Amino acid sequence: MEEKLQQILNEFKENEGNLTILTGAGISVESGIPTFRGADGYWTVGSVNYQFQQIGTFTFFEDKPLESWKWFLYRKGVCGRSKPNLGHMAVVDFEKHLQDRFRLITQNVDGLHLLAGNSEEKTFQVHGNINQMRCSKECSYDIYDIPDKVQVPDRNASLTDEMIKLLCCPKCKAMTRPHVLWWDESYNEHHFRIHSTRAWVDQTDLLITVGTSASANVACTTVYQVKDNGGSLIDINPAYSPLGDIAKHSHSGTQCTGTSSEYLPIIRDFLLS
Ligand SMILES: [Zn+2]
Repeated sequence: MEEKLQQILNEFKENEGNLTILTGAGISVESGIPTFRGADGYWTVGSVNYQFQQIGTFTFFEDKPLESWKWFLYRKGVCGRSKPNLGHMAVVDFEKHLQDRFRLITQNVDGLHLLAGNSEEKTFQVHGNINQMRCSKECSYDIYDIPDKVQVPDRNASLTDEMIKLLCCPKCKAMTRPHVLWWDESYNEHHFRIHSTRAWVDQTDLLITVGTSASANVACTTVYQVKDNGGSLIDINPAYSPLGDIAKHSHSGTQCTGTSSEYLPIIRDFLLS
């Protein structure tokens, strides 16, 4: 293990501080969840090709709710066929051992952390969860699991009348929407616990960022918040990430060039032994 990494982990162990792990798409790549860059990055409606930045908006949902749902159910199907990997399993062990000294912040909506065994209580799903839905008219803040019967077998399948019925709000019968943060929406406490996330980050002694870049707002602000409070930073990424640079240049930080399934088990074995 690199000397700097060992030094940071030793210090954390001695001080018995609070650990935050923040994950991005990189941790799920090894579970086979494709990024939006390839063939999954667009959606055809009639003769128009939409990019995911257009489909993943409330504006698109308002205009074409059923097309929006088809796209999300297709993505949900891809996530549903994926399994947590060694990186996800290591994150579960951190929660099991550190309990109240641990929180997970994930930008992923694939639900793999909860499937692996992390608790909803200690997991801030700041971008939502693709397996859940809520009322599009906001008649309440309730969040519902998307019924199992609602699924599309492939990109070209249509939603049946029964599925559409199951996608209605149990309270007011309006259409529900996927419980995810769309590109034209902002973080909030009632759906995404963003203030609770910020409050926890203030108590963080060691932040490990995994497979995420600085392009996501929440990743960048979290890293700076911990750094400004004097906490330690570890960035795990197989490719270049500006977060790695920030970590390296902070008073106590390092960058691990590798995948989450390589590094998280190593860090777990060291910290929890
Ligand atoms: Zn409703």
